[in-house]
Amino acid sequence: MEATVPRTKAFDIHQIRQDFPILQQQACGKPLVYLDSAASSQTPRVVIDRLHRYQSSEHSNVHRSVHSLGSNATLAFEGARKKVAEFINAGSEKEIVFTRGATDSVNLVMHSFGRRNLRSGDEIIVTGLEHHSNIVPWQMLCEEVGAVLRVVPIDARGELDLAAYHRLLGPRTRLVAMTQVSNSIGTVNPVQDMVASARKVGAVTLIDGAQAVPHMPVDVRALECDYYLFSGHKMCGPTGIGVLYTGPNVQERMGPYLGGGDMILRVTFEKTVYNVPPQKFEAGTPPIAGAIGLGAAVDYLQSVGMREIQQYEGELLDYALERIAEIDGVRVIGTARHKASVLSFMVDDIHPHDVGSLLNGYGVAIRAGHHCAQPVMDHFDVPATARASFALYNTLDDVDALIDGVRNVKRILS
Ligand code: PLP
Repeated sequence: MEATVPRTKAFDIHQIRQDFPILQQQACGKPLVYLDSAASSQTPRVVIDRLHRYQSSEHSNVHRSVHSLGSNATLAFEGARKKVAEFINAGSEKEIVFTRGATDSVNLVMHSFGRRNLRSGDEIIVTGLEHHSNIVPWQMLCEEVGAVLRVVPIDARGELDLAAYHRLLGPRTRLVAMTQVSNSIGTVNPVQDMVASARKVGAVTLIDGAQAVPHMPVDVRALECDYYLFSGHKMCGPTGIGVLYTGPNVQERMGPYLGGGDMILRVTFEKTVYNVPPQKFEAGTPPIAGAIGLGAAVDYLQSVGMREIQQYEGELLDYALERIAEIDGVRVIGTARHKASVLSFMVDDIHPHDVGSLLNGYGVAIRAGHHCAQPVMDHFDVPATARASFALYNTLDDVDALIDGVRNVKRILS
């Protein structure tokens, strides 16, 4: 029995809040207002219970045991892979590789696909909105093989310059790596169109969905991308588990990633024959508990409904944008027309760390910093921003608490 939440539950914010034990606690003597889900989301009880059940009564290693515990753990682990495949509409669970997180997924592609297929003078396109994890591995690859990194610029709103993107695409473009939603300012990129353009020049496409999967329905076959990746801990699942979707056209072109157990069919000192995907890319004991917990998180999100979550969070963001505009001296960083769940801002000339620290005293947890997106900070000429990010369990009251907190910060520090 895997599914512990009925799939038809209507979006009921009071119930949803009850589902998250951590939200019932206080921070600095005030009710906790958690607005840092872009960094890591909170975990619903069904996921915590599933992890507890696995560790307390089902744990064993997978893919190798003849005993019942081992085969049941394998069934649960592979069942989670199937849930993830269905969640993003992959063609088969064989296209789902479990990794340690989004960062690990990008690095897997860099090593398994990039080092094998890119040569000197080839071009990799990334966007100016990327998280460092979708920049640095490509820079490392460029250094190693002599490929060239091209960057799609962003405009004053924090939207991609799509005309520039089309000019960058050419016969040397081998790979386009783009985020679907910017973690630092919330811009939603038109990834479906961008993939279609990249395909016309024969480039392989990679979408970083770390900030999209928790907030909107995702259909990798409709997107027609080659790679799609995300992290469990940003979508109500545990840490230490991530996903790399590998489309049917790229698997054959990928070498192994890490070497070791499970990724082999036969080892001799003369030659090793590798396993088939996805096991070929999953050396060693995989994050079994993480995957099973992620499967429970997928069940949970689906029980609420991804369309419902998207709509609800859209209303929260609109309200937050409207309310923060009431405060003089607040500058919203990133005013894209299509945004998701992230509100980045500056308060007068107060350093965002001071904004974050003072808000913490009011029980309001936000992130202050460069959000692992220093090129975005450079573009807006700020060292850092204060960032409130929303998830399905936030409320209009949370937004009000943020606004009251920001007013207090201004009163104290301006
Ligand atoms: N990509 C985006 C858009 C992110 O927001 C993050 C984390 O903030 C990552 C990648 C990296 O995720 P992880 O640290 O879980 O590997």
